[in-house]
Amino acid sequence: MYEGAVQDLIDELGRLPGIGPKSAQRIAFHLLAADADDARRLADALTEVKLRVRFCEICGNVAESAQCRICLDPRRSLAVICVVEEPKDVVAIERTREFRGKYHVLGGAINPIDNVGPDDLRIKELLTRLADGAVLEVILAMDPNVEGEATATYLARLLGPLGLRVTRLASGLPVGGDLEYADEVTLGRAFEGRRVVSG
Ligand SMILES: [Zn+2]
Repeated sequence: MYEGAVQDLIDELGRLPGIGPKSAQRIAFHLLAADADDARRLADALTEVKLRVRFCEICGNVAESAQCRICLDPRRSLAVICVVEEPKDVVAIERTREFRGKYHVLGGAINPIDNVGPDDLRIKELLTRLADGAVLEVILAMDPNVEGEATATYLARLLGPLGLRVTRLASGLPVGGDLEYADEVTLGRAFEGRRVVSG
């Protein structure tokens, strides 16, 4: 335990995902030794992101206005929606340049151990978007791990009766990992070779 402000910083850093107590301590002391300007830039970036960035009211991606850049882009097809777990997956798929439709960000994946069920994800919002029949294909692009698998299976069953094409990314992605860890070529290929699971 350290005094006041240093311990506060270690505690806050330790609450971040993937940062254990040792890393939190290491980062805290790195910041302590850093230039005041560097530390201020980090603090400003944190403040700015909370002030300026929110989640798109349509797709749930990060946005700097009510709707995100992709939802606002008239050149992108309304007929295909690619469903992903997190905004970072949108970035990964955009990098492949394979996809010209819209996205839907669930905000996670079904995970009984962490108590995340379908109601905790933006599934109702997805069904609302599909209600008018303009969408012809839904691509399920979950992470290639147990939670992603469970989520994709759940969605395939749910969307099946709606009569649209439901596809999943081809296998070949590194199993157990995150979509974002796949390189652009592999992810692009998985996209290209997606298979129909319903419709
Ligand atoms: Zn959007």
